[in-house]
Amino acid sequence: MSRHSFRNTTNRLDTTGGDDWRHHSACRDEDAELFWPVGTTGPALRQAERAKAVCRRCPLWVQQECLNFAVEQRIDDGIFAGMDAKERSHAYANRAAA
Ligand code: SF4
Repeated sequence: MSRHSFRNTTNRLDTTGGDDWRHHSACRDEDAELFWPVGTTGPALRQAERAKAVCRRCPLWVQQECLNFAVEQRIDDGIFAGMDAKERSHAYANRAAA
């Protein structure tokens, strides 16, 4: 999934259902670029932590929907559900094993 389509999915408000999880997302009004740190050191790490802090403001059920979305769409970078791709992979594997 491209960065552009991330913008169109997590930040859009044109969903027809009144209770779509995206309507409740804490990142709805944030700059989507925050969730796409480039690299894994220095400023990118700090950026990732800022993005994760936004995610922590999301209701838990929204974080869960967000995690499901990222895994189902096979998004292999960026911050979703308060996790980077590696963390999401581990979380999903642990959940599947439980
Ligand atoms: S968990 Fe993070 S990326 Fe997902 S909807 Fe919430 S703020 Fe956005």
